Amino acid sequence: MATRDAGDPARDDRANYDYHSDSVARTGFVSDLVTLVDGEVRFDEYSRQLYATDASAYEVTPIGVVFPTSTDDVASVMEYCADREIPVLPRGGGTSLAGQSVNEAVVLDFTRHMGDLLDFDPEAETARAQSGIVLGELNRALAEEGLKFAPDPAWRDKSALGGAIGNNSTGSHSLKYGKTDAYIEECEVVLADGTVTTFGDVTLDELREGAGDDSLEGRIYAEVLRIVEEERDAVAEVFPQLKRNVSGYNLDRLVEEAEEGHVNLARLLAGSEGTLAIVTEATVSLEPIPETKAMALLTYGSLNDAMEDVAPILDHDPSAVEVLDNVLISLAEDTEEFRDVVEMLPDGTDSVLLVEFYATDDEDGREKVSKLRDDREGVRALSAMEAHDEDERARFWKLRKSGLPILLSRTTDAKHISFIEDSAVPPENLPEYVADFQQVLEDNDTFASVYAHAGPGCLHVRPLVNTKSPAGVNQMESIADAVTDLVVEYGGSVSGEHGDGRARTQWNHKLYGDHVWEVFRDLKTAFDPDWLLNPGQVCGDVDMTENLRFDPGYEFDSGFDPTLNWENENGFEGMVELCHGCGGCRGGQETTGGVMCPTYRAADEEITSTRGRANMLRQAMSGSLSDEEQFDVEFMHEVMDLCIGCKGCAKDCPSEVDMAKLKAEVEHEYHERHGTSLRDRIFGNIDRLSSLGSAFAPVSNWATELPGARFVAEKVLGIASERSLPTFHRETLEDWFEERGTRVSEEEATRRVLLFPDTYTNHNHPEAGKAAIRVLEAADVHVRIPSGVAGSGRPAHSKGLLDTAREQAETNVDALSSFVRDGWDVVVVEPSDAVMFQSDYLDLLPTDESSGSSSGQYTEPRSAAPEAGGLRTEAERLAANTYGICEYLDAFDLDLPLSGEGSLTYHGHCHQKATKKDGHAVTVLRTAGYEVDALDSGCCGMAGSFGYEAEHYSMSKAVGSILFEQVEESDGGEVVAPGASCRTQLGDWQGEEPPHPIQKVDEALR
Ligand SMILES: Cc1cc2nc3c(=O)[nH]c(=O)nc-3n(C[C@H](O)[C@H](O)[C@H](O)COP(=O)(O)OP(=O)(O)OC[C@H]3O[C@@H](n4cnc5c(N)ncnc54)[C@H](O)[C@@H]3O)c2cc1C
Ligand code: SF4
Ligand code: SF4
Repeated sequence: MATRDAGDPARDDRANYDYHSDSVARTGFVSDLVTLVDGEVRFDEYSRQLYATDASAYEVTPIGVVFPTSTDDVASVMEYCADREIPVLPRGGGTSLAGQSVNEAVVLDFTRHMGDLLDFDPEAETARAQSGIVLGELNRALAEEGLKFAPDPAWRDKSALGGAIGNNSTGSHSLKYGKTDAYIEECEVVLADGTVTTFGDVTLDELREGAGDDSLEGRIYAEVLRIVEEERDAVAEVFPQLKRNVSGYNLDRLVEEAEEGHVNLARLLAGSEGTLAIVTEATVSLEPIPETKAMALLTYGSLNDAMEDVAPILDHDPSAVEVLDNVLISLAEDTEEFRDVVEMLPDGTDSVLLVEFYATDDEDGREKVSKLRDDREGVRALSAMEAHDEDERARFWKLRKSGLPILLSRTTDAKHISFIEDSAVPPENLPEYVADFQQVLEDNDTFASVYAHAGPGCLHVRPLVNTKSPAGVNQMESIADAVTDLVVEYGGSVSGEHGDGRARTQWNHKLYGDHVWEVFRDLKTAFDPDWLLNPGQVCGDVDMTENLRFDPGYEFDSGFDPTLNWENENGFEGMVELCHGCGGCRGGQETTGGVMCPTYRAADEEITSTRGRANMLRQAMSGSLSDEEQFDVEFMHEVMDLCIGCKGCAKDCPSEVDMAKLKAEVEHEYHERHGTSLRDRIFGNIDRLSSLGSAFAPVSNWATELPGARFVAEKVLGIASERSLPTFHRETLEDWFEERGTRVSEEEATRRVLLFPDTYTNHNHPEAGKAAIRVLEAADVHVRIPSGVAGSGRPAHSKGLLDTAREQAETNVDALSSFVRDGWDVVVVEPSDAVMFQSDYLDLLPTDESSGSSSGQYTEPRSAAPEAGGLRTEAERLAANTYGICEYLDAFDLDLPLSGEGSLTYHGHCHQKATKKDGHAVTVLRTAGYEVDALDSGCCGMAGSFGYEAEHYSMSKAVGSILFEQVEESDGGEVVAPGASCRTQLGDWQGEEPPHPIQKVDEALR
C-alpha cells in the first residue's frame, strides 16, 4: 500500500526522488553523525554542491550538510567535529553577499527544523525564537500585537534570525533602529567545544568571577575582560563613528557598554559571522509598528547635489533616506511598470532621494513632508513628489528597487558583482566620497550604479567586472584596494551592511590597523581555540580573489549543442550562469512576486528551488559532474524533473532565470541520449491522441472508467491512479462550429479573429470554446476556426520533445501567417497554449538570416499589411497578434452587453502571470458585473501532465494544497480558472471542475 503522506512529497513511496544523490562522501563520518543527531545528515554530492554558494561571488564546496532539529543536535555535531578538528559553518537562508556563508566545513542549516517562535511577551516587548526562523515570518506573528523585530534587511523574507545576528543585519530604517545588535537580549549558544551556554548581560564583576573558571567559557570571559580593561582606547581610536559599521568584531559596543559596568556577550556575537559561537535561540527586544508613514521623492540635477542634500535632510528626522542615481532611473524607465513614474520626473532629473517619515497620523505625515519641501525644494532639490497612502508609498519604494533586477539580468561574462557594494561613510562626507569613488571606477575602466541607504551613508555600488579573466580579477582587487583607502580617509567602514566574509576580511586589517586586528584574532582564539568555526572570515586569512564562482580557471561545457534559440540570453551558457544566488526563490508566496518557486514551497528543500536547480546545472556543466553524470537518470529525477515548468522564475526572479526553458533544453538532450519513454511520448503527443479520444468517445471515456483501469494505467504507464482522466467529447469544438457556422459576417464585423482550437478546449472542454465564440460574436467580431493547424506544441515542449514542438510551431506559423499579415488576430482559450504562440515559438524557431530578426519582439504596427517574411519573422508577427481570450476582450475594450451577478474567486494561470498577462481576466470579469477575489496564487501543481505522473502525484498535491488553502480562505464565491490543468487539479480537490472565466462572461451576456 502506497504511503500518501501530506507532508514531505518524497515520502510517497512512488516518488522517485529524495533530494540528494547516491554518491556519498566520507561514509564513516556520516554513519557516526547519523547516530548522534535526529536531523538529516547529507554528505552526498548534490547536497554539497547545493550549499557551495550563497548570494556572493564565491563558491566553496562544504564537507557536508546537517539539518539539526534541536540544540542537542547542534552540540553533538560541534563536539564531534571539535574532537576531529573539522570546521563547522552555521547557516540561515544563505543570502549573504560577501561569501561568509560558504566554507569547507560541515554546514548546519537551521532553516529546516529550527525555525520556531518559542515565546512572545507583548507586554515586555520581547520574543524568543530559534535561530532558523525567517525574519518575515517572525514579524508576521509579532504584528498581531502591533510589534516588530525592527532591523529590516531587504531580504528579510528569505533570511533567518541567526543570519541577521551573524551579519548584524539592518535595513532602510537603520536611521531609527540601528542594527540587530541593539535588539539582542540573550542567546543560547553552542561553543566551539560543544558546550551549551547562555550569553546575555553580565556585570563586570560577574565577568571577573567567570574568568577564573578553566572552561572554554571561562577563557572567553577572561579575554573579554582583558579587552574591556586594556583595549578601550585602542578600540575607541580606530572604530569609525558611524551608524553603519559591521566590519570586524563588535568591540566598540562592548567597550562602550563596559563604561556602564556591564557587557552583553550575546551582542558581541552580532556581526561575528558564525566565527565565535553558534546561536541556537535568541531573545530579542521589539519595537512598536509605526502608526503611519509619509514619503517625499526629491529630484536633483546631479548625484552630487543629492549627496549634498543628505545631511540637511537628516535634520528633519526622517526614518529613511534612499538614493537612486541616473543609471537606475534610466533602467527603471525601460520597465513598463515604472515608465510613467520616471516620466513624471522633471526634465534634467539625474538622481532622486526618497525620504520617508514615521508619523502619528496622516496630518502629522503631511506636515513633516511639507516642512521638508519648504526647506529643500528649489534650494538644491529641483522638485518634490509626495506619497501618503499605502499604495503610493509602496510604489515609491518599488521604484527604488526597480532598476536593480535589470542590472542583475546581465547574461554577459561581466557582471555587477558585490565586493565593495556596502561601504559606508559619515553622511556629511558623501559628496566627496562618491565623487572619488566614481573616479576610482573610471580609473579602472568600469562603471556602477549608486543606490540605497544615503541617510546613514551606506551606498550600494556594484561595479561591472568579469572575474573569468585575470584582468577582471585584478580590476576587482584594485577597485577594492582604492575604495577601502577612501573609506579610511573619509572615516568610514568597508562594510556598512553585508559583512566581511571573503570579500572584505582582508581589508579589516587596513581599516583597524595591526593592533586591533590582533585583538580580533585573540578574541577569536579565546572563543574558538582551533579556529574551527567558519574559519578564515572576519580576521582570518581568506583572500578576496580566491574561491570565486567564476574565475579565470572556470570552464563551461554543456556537453551538447543547444537546440533552442538562446540569442537573447547571450547563449545557453548565459542563462545557465545567470542565477546570482540571492535566494529570492526560497521565499513565501506573497514575497516573491507570486509564482516562484512552487516546488520549493511544497518541499522546503534547496534542490527544489530555482537556485538549487540553477546551481546544480551550472556546476554540472563546469566540471563538478562528469558529462555522463550530468544526464544520468538520477540527475534528471532529482534536479530537473521536479521543476514543473511554471515559468514563475522567468518573471519573479530578479535576474529572470528561465528554468522552464533550461529544463526543456536539458530534457530534450536527455531524450537524445536515453530515448523517450512511452509515457512521455503519449503526453507529449496528447493533441494527436485526443483526436482519437474524441473519435471513439464515449467508448474512450468508458474505457478509462472500467474497474481496474486506473490501476492498469498506473502500473503500465505510470499515470497516478488517484487522477480522473480527461473526458473526451464526441462533438469537438470544431465539429460544433462547423455545424453552427459563424453568426457575424466578415463584412459587418468590427474585428476578425481566428480562434485556435487548442487541444484541451477542442476535445475536453468545448463549452469554454463555445462561450468564447458567443462572447466574441456578441462584440461583433467575425470568428473562424482555422484549418490546417497542428496542436500548439505545448505538451511536447513541456516534455522536452522539442523537435515535435518545433514541427508544430512551423505548421501553425505557416497556416496562420497569411491571415495575420492580412490583419486577423489569433485568440486562444487555453492560457499555456496562448503563451506558446506569444513566447515559446520564438525560442523554438531560429533567427531568419535574411531578415536579421533576432529581437524576440515584433515591432511593426499591427495595422500594416506587410510582405511575407521568413519563418521567424512570421512567428514574431504571430506572437505579437496572438491573445488569450480574456486578454483580447480587455486589450481591445470590446463593447459587450453584460450583467453578471455574484462573486467569484479567480485563480490565474502561472504562464500568464509569468508573461504579465494575468490581470486581463479579472478586469473582464469585473467589467461583466462580478465581484472578484483575485487570488495571489502560484502554480496549481498540475502543470500539464506533471500531476498525472504517479511519481509526481504527491508533489503535485503538495503544490496544489497551497492553492486549496487560498481558495478556502477566500471571501469570493465560485472558483474560476482559465487553465485546463488548474481546473483538473481544483476539480479533483473540490469534486467539481470550476469553469473558465469566459464561461462566466458568456453567462453574463444579456
Ligand atoms: C537582494 C539582497 C538584499 C539584501 N539586503 C540586505 C539589507 O538590506 N540589509 C542587510 O543587512 N543585509 C542584506 N542582505 C544580506 C543578507 O540577506 C542579510 O545579511 C541576512 O540577514 C542574512 O541572513 P541569512 O539567514 O541569509 O544568513 P546566512 O547568509 O545564512 O548567514 C549569515 C552569516 O551568519 C552566520 N550564521 C547564520 N546562522 C547562524 C547561527 N545560528 N549562529 C551563528 N552564526 C550564524 C553564518 O555563518 C554567516 O556568516 C541582502 C542580501 C540580498 C541577496
Ligand atoms: S534563481 Fe533568481 S531568485 Fe533564485 S537565487 Fe537565483 S537569482 Fe535569486
Ligand atoms: S519554472 Fe517554476 S518550478 Fe521550475 S524553477 Fe521556475 S519557478 Fe520553480
